[in-house]
Amino acid sequence: MGAGAGHPVAVELVRVRVPLRSPLRSAHGTEAERDLVLVRVELADGSTGWGECSALARPTYTAEHTAGAWLVLRRELVPALLEGRDAGVVGHPMATAALATAHLDARLRRQGRRLVEELGAAHGRPAERVPTAAVVGRADSVDDVVAAVARRLDEGAALVKLKVTPRPDDLAAVAAVRSAWPHLALAVDANGTLDARSLSVLDPLGLAYVEQPAPADDLLASAALARRSSAPVALDESVTSLASLEVALAVGAGTVVNVKPARLGGVGAAAEVARAAADAGCGVFVGGMLETGVGRAAALAVAALPWCGLPTDLGPSDRYFDDDVTEPIELDAEGLLAVPTGPGTGVAPRADRLDAVAVDRLVLGG
Ligand code: MG
Repeated sequence: MGAGAGHPVAVELVRVRVPLRSPLRSAHGTEAERDLVLVRVELADGSTGWGECSALARPTYTAEHTAGAWLVLRRELVPALLEGRDAGVVGHPMATAALATAHLDARLRRQGRRLVEELGAAHGRPAERVPTAAVVGRADSVDDVVAAVARRLDEGAALVKLKVTPRPDDLAAVAAVRSAWPHLALAVDANGTLDARSLSVLDPLGLAYVEQPAPADDLLASAALARRSSAPVALDESVTSLASLEVALAVGAGTVVNVKPARLGGVGAAAEVARAAADAGCGVFVGGMLETGVGRAAALAVAALPWCGLPTDLGPSDRYFDDDVTEPIELDAEGLLAVPTGPGTGVAPRADRLDAVAVDRLVLGG
């Protein structure tokens, strides 16, 4: 890496706890606040950039979790970046993505270039506004789910995705939403919990896709369910790299891919996976990790790439937070999310808001 004005000289880790407006319930648990690590990289010339580690507080979605990410950043990834050497760390894509994105954001800000243009330069012309899906969590009653869907449709959602498990209430909620909106683009995300019987209940409902019906590492089970399903199977947790995508497609595990920059180790890797999936004929969209504005702006740059043809799960700030850590990312009148226009990701945390939600801060180097 060497010395020079673009060399990283300091990295700050900021652990924040940001209350969610309403808890999100899914098959893997309930999130009531976002407990995550924000990363600030400072270059020798004083330029700074930000990234977000989107791991959940507990290792229930993937093996990563916030406390572990903090340790691996502090002990392994940040020292390696500051010393200009390879970290040699296995796994930990979300911690890796946070630091890589912060470093890239700093370099792009220094050059006055936008992240979306950086990704688009290698991957074709990006869009400036992207259509959105509304992800609706599990609720106590079918009526609550239907009411939540009605609110999201008022905001202009192009697709509605319901979090489900095989529980009868969850399956009944999907049927109720379909019955209320016969022509709605409707999908479900099971986070690995469906079996053939529950899939057969969903099958007549004309779903746009069934996301992650089988456990992440059980590609053969996913392929078996895909053969029984008239809706396309979407893969989320199963796709962790370009290589795992190729295996998944080779065994017929799915034909839609949820691309998450955090899970794939960064925005560059996510762009590569999106292109490979689209080239293979798959539908592609960028999923969400309940990011704050820092992570959402970076993911939005990937969602704007031409291979991401399905509505993104990324939503506006006020869907998740009363007060985001950045200036809010908002839907326009047509329900589209605009890609921020400033250099780098186009957003950074507000200092006062960061002070209010930080529970731990540490500067390495400098
Ligand atoms: Mg998912």
